[in-house]
Amino acid sequence: MFKKILIANRGEIAVRILRACRELSIESAVVFSEADRQSLHVRLADEAYAIGPAPSRESYLRIDKLMDVARRAGCDAVHPGYGFLAENADLPKACSEAGLTFIGPSAEAMEALGAKTAGRQLARRSDVPTVPGTNDPIEKIDEAQALAQSMGYPVLLKAVAGGGGKGMRVVNKDAEFSAAFRDAGSEANNAFGDARLYLEKYLEKPRHVEVQILADAHGRVVSLGERECSVQRRHQKVVEEAPSPIITPDIRKKMGEAAVRLARAGRYVNAGTVEFLVDAHSNFYFLEVNTRLQVEHPVTEQVTGLDLVKLQIAIAAGHRLPFAWETLTPRGHAMEVRLYAEDPDNNFFPSPGKILSRTVPSGPGIRLDEGIYEGWTVPNDYDPLLGKLIAWGNSREEAIARLRRALEEYTVTGIKTNVALFRRILNEPDFLRSEIHTTWLDELLRRPRTTSPPSSTEFDAAAIAAALFHATHQAGSAEAPAQSAEPSPWRAASRREQVDRQP
Ligand code: ADP
Repeated sequence: MFKKILIANRGEIAVRILRACRELSIESAVVFSEADRQSLHVRLADEAYAIGPAPSRESYLRIDKLMDVARRAGCDAVHPGYGFLAENADLPKACSEAGLTFIGPSAEAMEALGAKTAGRQLARRSDVPTVPGTNDPIEKIDEAQALAQSMGYPVLLKAVAGGGGKGMRVVNKDAEFSAAFRDAGSEANNAFGDARLYLEKYLEKPRHVEVQILADAHGRVVSLGERECSVQRRHQKVVEEAPSPIITPDIRKKMGEAAVRLARAGRYVNAGTVEFLVDAHSNFYFLEVNTRLQVEHPVTEQVTGLDLVKLQIAIAAGHRLPFAWETLTPRGHAMEVRLYAEDPDNNFFPSPGKILSRTVPSGPGIRLDEGIYEGWTVPNDYDPLLGKLIAWGNSREEAIARLRRALEEYTVTGIKTNVALFRRILNEPDFLRSEIHTTWLDELLRRPRTTSPPSSTEFDAAAIAAALFHATHQAGSAEAPAQSAEPSPWRAASRREQVDRQP
């Protein structure tokens, strides 16, 4: 087993990996930028090393600095977490040159499966159905446009290097094609330094269902079942659950087998996720492979009883997977919400700042994976993900009831959070019946709200107003009582976000 692992990440995922190391009695070294000097992962780590200024290009994305820290700290392995360098094949390459073990797939497997067009080609060769479209980057725009016409609109232009919904444009008619091509290409170039695009048929109201796989270095590849991730805001997941309410054992088996086939074809080792879109007739189509740990991995952990980070470490150390995938049936139901420092009443604009106070939920079936603490200032340099709240129950209904109860217990002051969004989603009849699709939440947020439950700050305002009213009346004042602020309506989203999202 490893002696010391370098954790090349920050925030809740750095804390998550650190905890796994501690349980395995492996030492850990973390890195931090100037903006993260006071961060929780730095406080909890055995050792912490400064790697430069706040911008990630000058710190968390600098492979040379990471390698230098690994050498100085005497590490023998590197865990990349998710985001940052997690899907950059240069990191496993640099690790092997430095004699370090990369806790993830090989550079070759990353390249064979990670780039979207490469993944599509391998899927086709592995008999895994793909969304109709091009399997190579578009070279001539008029050829792509002709294909769009023959497939029929709407189509979707997507960045080959895509991630986080960037470089993606829905094209509804021919006249929009060239402008969309230009916009998507320049967005992709800005985000990934790669302007190449490809084309997919735009599926109407699909569901996003993904399969978690694990593969060891001895040829065993297993599926740990699926996660339902259809609740998305602008193509970004916000609520995830396992198992998917629409997946039957038969489809689970077929999807699992397809994911395993693909992983084998790519000679994949370690944890990975094969994403699919599912249509109304339960047909599933390959979307992409994420060659890393996912943000939403805890829901799979809760229904399988496995610790995916420890298994990643064990696989990287050459251990064998101790079970066959056929024997794995999900137990109960788990649901996760992604907690962000952002303002739902102001178009989900990031809301960094100092956390003045907080109360955290606990009790039966509740898990909170966070990277924050009271008194800490959420920096505005990174994705504003605070953490994830996960509930487990014997049934989906119990998981939802526990999550609702935990959200009531969760308070943070000093910054705005998106907690009110989840209180709303968890009471929507469509969500409760799981009659949802990938644009369901965007449509919900465009609908005007008739009544809006007060947020915790509004509760505070109302309580203060009531106290003042009481006090002034006691004193015999004839003044009118203070009114609590009208809850702001949920605004339709149109302003672009300024902070990059985690995958
Ligand atoms: P990224 O890597 O940028 O996150 P993905 O390919 O994983 O992009 O897609 C993200 C989301 O975008 C999907 O979950 C789905 O909501 C939507 N999407 C992607 N491709 C299609 C498609 N062909 N038709 C409809 N929706 C799609």
